[in-house]
Amino acid sequence: MNLMNTDKTYVAGTYARFPVELVKGKGSLAWDANGKEYIDLGSGIAVNGFGICDDVWLKAVTEQLTKLPHASNLYYTEPCAKLAEMLCQRTGMKKVFFGNSGAEANECLIKVARKYAAEKHGSDCYTIVTLKNSFHGRTLTTLSATGQDHYHELYQPLTPGFAHIAPGDMDALRELAKTTKIAAVLIECVQGEGGVVPLDRAFTDALAAFCKENDVLLAVDEVQTGNGRSGQLYAYMCYDLHPDIVSTAKGLGGGLPIGACLMGEKVKDVFGPGDHGSTFGGNPASCAGGVSILSRMDDALLEGVRERSAYIFNELTGAEGVEAVNGLGLMIGIKTVKPAREVVGKCIENGVLALTAKDRVRLLPALNIPMDQLKKAVAVLKAACAE
Ligand SMILES: *Cc1c(COP(=O)(O)O)cnc(C)c1O
Repeated sequence: MNLMNTDKTYVAGTYARFPVELVKGKGSLAWDANGKEYIDLGSGIAVNGFGICDDVWLKAVTEQLTKLPHASNLYYTEPCAKLAEMLCQRTGMKKVFFGNSGAEANECLIKVARKYAAEKHGSDCYTIVTLKNSFHGRTLTTLSATGQDHYHELYQPLTPGFAHIAPGDMDALRELAKTTKIAAVLIECVQGEGGVVPLDRAFTDALAAFCKENDVLLAVDEVQTGNGRSGQLYAYMCYDLHPDIVSTAKGLGGGLPIGACLMGEKVKDVFGPGDHGSTFGGNPASCAGGVSILSRMDDALLEGVRERSAYIFNELTGAEGVEAVNGLGLMIGIKTVKPAREVVGKCIENGVLALTAKDRVRLLPALNIPMDQLKKAVAVLKAACAE
């Protein structure tokens, strides 16, 4: 049996995989089992921020792997403490809880919001408001937080305590607040899985004001938008927001599983011993990767993200077969005349890996993708749109 058939036979059928078997990669290049080369515009869904097998990251991780790959959270380890310190120093947040994925980071965020609100406002203050078209993860509770009905249908009953409003609909939020105690509002500044849709600044301003006036926690899901992808370290910085809780994951580990929940001044002491935990969370290998990634997210790198973003927007806006280009930084959605999946299939044929989100082609290239590779890949994508 060939590998694709083995996979189809034995791996749960939850993914509509593209017909490509990747065997290795370096930077923004990847190779399949037949030796065909691809330029990678997906970064393993915004994970390989500095590309595949980035040398500096690889050294940091392998050195840690040969010393102490896992210790459990019963003991202190340096990479965990160091990464938490760096995250707080770069954001102004006060404490960090580490898990292993975006969903776990959001589970933690939800627990923080619930415990804080119950203690401060009473046990009937637990509702978390999220946005329609949002995506917050696949565990039952983060699925409940996700504002897309089609994810909910198969898994009733969901975790109670979530309400969804349309992006921009402050009236709905104010109406809800008349009858329901609201613990927190949770947003993605750019709805990634929802089609790479940035929120309007007027809306985020109004949300922030509402949260402040009503002592409601402002929480931002930076799982996909975070760690340099927006052109700032975190996308909320592009919106001048001051969140109380931030979740992040994907790009933070540079290729190893990690999730982090960052807690601000208000909520920093919500958790005590035993309130939450994770066996693998904060493991030395993933955290060493995170330290390596975060320590290199300087102004020059972020400027490079914005330059590459401008190049892609310029090339694709108004191009043949392209109806609209939206997004922020190196998180870009392209509304194509042809179905997105067809365009991505054509790109793969011609040696470019791109993604989809809803009805859009989605680009999440490495933050440091070399310009010559980016130019080549965008030309292939343009041709695929125009065909
Ligand atoms: C990917 C994603 C998640 C879920 O992350 P996992 O690591 O797959 O659990 C949550 N929120 C957002 C915004 C995401 O893009």
